[in-house]
Amino acid sequence: MFKINENYLKLPGSYLFSTVGRKEREYKAAHPDKKVIKLSIGDVTQPLVPSIVEALHGAVDEMGKAETFRGYAPDLGYEFLRSAIASGDYKARGVDIDIDEIFVSDGAKCDSGNIQEILGLDNKIAVGDPVYPVYVDSNVMAGRTGTYDAATGMWSNVVYMPCLEENGFAPTLPKETPDIIYLCFPNNPTGATVTKDELQKWVDYANEKKALIIYDAAYEAYISESNVPHTVYECDGAKTCAIELRSFSKNAGFTGVRLGFTVIPKELKCGDVSLNALWARRHGTKYNGAPYIVQRAGEAVYSETGRQELKKQVAYYMNNAKVIKEGLAEAGFSVSGGVNAPYIWLKTVNGMSSWEFFDYVLEKANVVGTPGSGFGPSGEGYFRLTAFGTYENTVEAIERMKKLI
Ligand SMILES: *Cc1c(COP(=O)(O)O)cnc(C)c1O
Repeated sequence: MFKINENYLKLPGSYLFSTVGRKEREYKAAHPDKKVIKLSIGDVTQPLVPSIVEALHGAVDEMGKAETFRGYAPDLGYEFLRSAIASGDYKARGVDIDIDEIFVSDGAKCDSGNIQEILGLDNKIAVGDPVYPVYVDSNVMAGRTGTYDAATGMWSNVVYMPCLEENGFAPTLPKETPDIIYLCFPNNPTGATVTKDELQKWVDYANEKKALIIYDAAYEAYISESNVPHTVYECDGAKTCAIELRSFSKNAGFTGVRLGFTVIPKELKCGDVSLNALWARRHGTKYNGAPYIVQRAGEAVYSETGRQELKKQVAYYMNNAKVIKEGLAEAGFSVSGGVNAPYIWLKTVNGMSSWEFFDYVLEKANVVGTPGSGFGPSGEGYFRLTAFGTYENTVEAIERMKKLI
């Protein structure tokens, strides 16, 4: 008789975005005359830039001709893309990453969920609170997290690192020693970052405790301050303790195109076992590669024109972030983030809970945000706004929200 993976039954329903969507629909149905503006979703809205569209067209044409048609991609991804990554994302920052340490994939969400497969079940994970939900849920599915306490919203076998006002909404070294530490800088949902010196402390800590850092740098392109590291490997010793996850979704608008990569340095070992070799085995067995067409589009991200066009796209979103942050701060809201990330983390007013504030903002300003409590218990009393809307809508939304206070 077959049995299911009962760990799945432990997962509490993820009602966050479905509830946000339902409330938005209900409000619109009841008030068809109102223009509701959505600053809730972590998805890009600007179209692909011309150099990427051109690369896609070119690759489609190649696939349509016998001489240039391609079948399965190499296991780790095409060398043209891995070389572009190694020089554009790493060498340019003074970091040596070999192309055999780069594994091309269809995105960072899958990689962040799959990577735990090569790690033992008796590892204890540590996560920021609030956090990108994939890290915890994928470990629940594997059976690593213990039991769920609905009252606190916490798992018994997870180390939570609260991200609160006093630590700038970024995690600090935990009291209890974990085996695996998930870090995401610039952070979704709080928009916080750490300096290179601060990140160095995490790397030193991980090396000392023989812990593994899984470093999600999906928002690297949004970094504007010079002392914020673009890759964990800018820190000394990171190659012996850290895996880095990258995505083309937020820097190049690939959320619907799908492309990402994971870096696993060859020095990263557990005893004498190389994690690079384990992930290569896993990748080769279970994954047949991101499409050739998409990998060519990824290559265009690193071209001179691609870079210039994407710089403008990121600047467009970051200008929205500025409009949100400065507008709300001026009005008297307590806001953070938005400087190195497309997210603004806003404190609710009058002691409202995250969901009370959600309803209040929807009702009074017709703006949809995301309740902070949906990302973890320490997100209670906070609200996430994204810079991924259009400029016009963002300005209008903030003008309306200014009147709430
Ligand atoms: C958007 C996002 C990603 C990217 O996921 P893809 O699967 O590459 O689209 C990864 N991590 C975080 C924290 C994100 O917000």
